Amino acid sequence: MRIAIAGAGAMGSRFGLMLQQGGNEVLLIDGWAEHVQQIQEHGLRANYNGKEVVAHLPILLQSEVGESDQVDLIILFTKAMQLEKMLKDIQSLIKEDTEVLCLLNGIGHEDIIEKFVPMENIYIGNTMWTAGLEGPGQVKLFGDGSVELQNLGAGKEAAAKELARKLAESGLNAKFSDNIRYSIYRKACVNGTMNGLCTILDVNMAGLGKTTTAHKMVETIVNEFAKVAAFENIHLDIPEVIAHCESCFDPATIGMHYPSMYQDLIKNHRLTEIDYINGAISRKGRKYGIVTPYCDFLTELVHAKEDSLNVK
Ligand code: NAD
Repeated sequence: MRIAIAGAGAMGSRFGLMLQQGGNEVLLIDGWAEHVQQIQEHGLRANYNGKEVVAHLPILLQSEVGESDQVDLIILFTKAMQLEKMLKDIQSLIKEDTEVLCLLNGIGHEDIIEKFVPMENIYIGNTMWTAGLEGPGQVKLFGDGSVELQNLGAGKEAAAKELARKLAESGLNAKFSDNIRYSIYRKACVNGTMNGLCTILDVNMAGLGKTTTAHKMVETIVNEFAKVAAFENIHLDIPEVIAHCESCFDPATIGMHYPSMYQDLIKNHRLTEIDYINGAISRKGRKYGIVTPYCDFLTELVHAKEDSLNVK
């Protein structure tokens, strides 16, 4: 397959590398000029499960994508707030039969993708792979993961299964899901509790778990997500989802990690995806007539933190 990765940061680089190793023709597309230049000049340098590898992957600046570039599949891996600009810039790559798979964290990206891609070509998913960007052209890739995906278009189940099969051939452990929106909401609950709270409190996840109010905050936020999801006919198993979120507190597993929002804002002074996690619940809540005070407040706090750090 000819595959374009639109957004070749940490996760895009991981998927690009694994898909190339799996025998696909991969084109990276990105908007960060310094990162693009490093990969063009030195290849993508990856610490891949402890081993240093250099992958020679073609990469284009998103502003330089041309009519002649042809791909079968585009995997979207920008940060949520970069998605619309990316889709605008790569419009010439999106042909009538180009499949587009979105694996960003957060909720409701299909509303943006639908502006550029016919519904029958859109696939949405969720991934448990992780990756870290060490600097321009350099990534750290550790551990295992998985991908779940589903078609948005009616009658496209067979195509979604085929897409999952092709990704699985490259070791991505991809599977078709018949209820991807449930998985997306469930993962968004983890991001909606761990990310914002650790960022504002300046703690890792184990540190959050040690606070006397952690359980109440997690429970209230998950309940807000669940009420909004129920309005969309997605019925979260609330006790299971709360337990899933709180499993992140365990210092023996991932508790000592600082979530990605913390890394983005506090460490690297970059904007956060809060508007597509808790902020998405606030927006949907307003639309559906559901009050979501914890998500509203957490979204405002994170934006205030962005402002106080002068992050733009
Ligand atoms: P990333 O920040 O590594 O890359 C996203 C984009 O931001 C890329 O285009 C990258 O080039 C650009 N970028 C990164 N640093 C920059 C800088 N200093 N200056 C300018 N541009 C910069 O994001 P990611 O971690 O690959 O995440 C992509 C999506 O996948 C997000 O929705 C994220 O929530 C989700 N996700 C991430 C992980 C993970 O472990 N990283 C896991 C699952 C899902």
